[in-house]
Parts: sequence; C-alpha cells; structure tokens
Amino acid sequence: MTAMTPNTTPAIEVRGLRKSFGPVEVLKGIDLTAHEGEVISILGSSGSGKSTMLRCINMLETPDAGDISVAGEKIGLKRDAKGHGHIVDRRQVERIRSELGMVFQSFNLWSYKTVIENIIEAPIHVQKRPKADVIAEAEALLEKVGIADKRNHYPSHLSGGQQQRAAIARALAMRPKVMLFDEPTSALDPELVGEVLRVMRSLADEGRTMLVVTHEMGFARDVSSRVIFLHQGAIEEQGSPEEMFTNAQSERFRKFISA
Ligand code: ADP
Ligand code: MG
Repeated sequence: MTAMTPNTTPAIEVRGLRKSFGPVEVLKGIDLTAHEGEVISILGSSGSGKSTMLRCINMLETPDAGDISVAGEKIGLKRDAKGHGHIVDRRQVERIRSELGMVFQSFNLWSYKTVIENIIEAPIHVQKRPKADVIAEAEALLEKVGIADKRNHYPSHLSGGQQQRAAIARALAMRPKVMLFDEPTSALDPELVGEVLRVMRSLADEGRTMLVVTHEMGFARDVSSRVIFLHQGAIEEQGSPEEMFTNAQSERFRKFISA
C-alpha cells in the first residue's frame, strides 16, 4: 500500500458532488480525493449512493453540482435553468472515461464474442492501437487474471468468477489510470468470490489506483488504504482501515460492520 502523497496531482478529485433523481437528492455534497496508488473502499448500505457516486465519476450519470477531475483534468459541466448538469464536451468525457476502467456487479461481457475478442475490441477499435500489440497484451492480462486457458471460450461457458476476471482483464486492456469496481463479487456464488478478490488484491499490490464499492469487509480491512462510509448520500466517516475497523466514531458504521 502506497502512503498518501499529497503533493502530486490526485488521480481522482471530487468536490461538492451532488446528484438528484427527481425530487430525491441521492448525493449531498461528496468530497473525495484518490492519490495515485490508493485503494479506497466505499462502504454503505443499499441505497446510500455508492453506485451513483461511481457513475458520476465516469459520467454515466451527470452531476448536478460539483467538480470531478481525473489526473488533474476537470470534466467540463454546465448547469441549465433547472439546475441539471450537462456535459460540455462529449469527446472530453469519452477520452476521460477511457482512462477509468469500470467493473460492474454483472460482468457485462459481450456474449457473442470470445473472451479474447471481448478484451481486444475497445483497444483496437476505440483506442486504435495495433492489433498484434493488443493481442499480446490481452494474452498477458488473461495470464495475470488466471484464465489464459479460456482465451477462445464464450462467456456463457465460463463460471461467474471467470467471467468477472475476464471483465477485469477487459478493463485493464484499456490501460486505465484508475479502476472503478462496483460490487464486483456481489453476483457471485460464495465459493467464487475469493478468486476475484485475489485478482483485485494483486492489482492493489501493483500500486494501481482503485475505488472499490464492496461488501467484502476482509478486502476493505486488509487491502484498502482508506475506507469511506456513505450514509444517505453523504460521507459519514472515513479513515484508514485500522481506524475505521477498530475505532470508528460513527455508531451507524460500527453497526454496519458488525451486521
Ligand atoms: P447504492 O449503490 O449505494 O445501493 P445507488 O447509488 O444505486 O445506491 O442509489 C441511491 C439512490 O438513488 C437509491 O434510492 C436509488 O433508488 C436511487 N437511484 C439510483 N439510480 C437512479 C435512477 N437512475 N433513477 C432514479 N433513482 C435512482
Ligand atoms: Mg450499488
């Protein structure tokens, strides 16, 4: 785990992030800084706004207020008369989004493509990188996540854990600056959770910057450099895993982790 290095440009910086759906404000002013090499676990009960926060960071949802910067570049947003946010420059968002690898609960692989085809698609067609290089890198990534033997299989022939590892390899193939995980093990049978967590742990050990929404308390405690607890769209408490798991101030968080 890398110590905080506050003098470098943060990989992700979120300031005053707000988002409403209709009359309901689900994010009420979130501030979050992820320095390079940090692994931040985002905890909170269902409906607390964890997914919306990640989706705002990669602009799958447009914030109503606040600033988001990725590697020092602020995403351009303008507000309309009703206070809703709009993207200023679509191409900027597409470029920044390609720097953020996203892994969802449901693996979202293309069912009609083999594992290797899933991985090489965007690097070749979106990033326009040379096919031979992309394939070589994809094979190395399959090796890394432990499914090299599934190279030419279709997703439906893989277990959930293998599919999720393929999805992680696919995200890594874009050479992202930051990896965003939204409950990557929540859809898995219990016996398959460990193999995905092991891959995520190896990414953390490599010094990758990661934001991880998870209910895996062992991962949050042992792997993350910081733990954030969201409650009703606000950060109720955050700190090092040691502080949070032994000495949290929030009664609610203490209940949450003992549940
Ligand atoms: P979490 O990931 O912590 O479970 P979410 O970010 O998914 O929470 O949701 C936070 C709140 O926002 C919930 O009340 C949810 O119903 C609501 N919500 C999320 N997405 C939408 C949407 N697209 N439209 C309307 N309400 C939404
Ligand atoms: Mg969610």
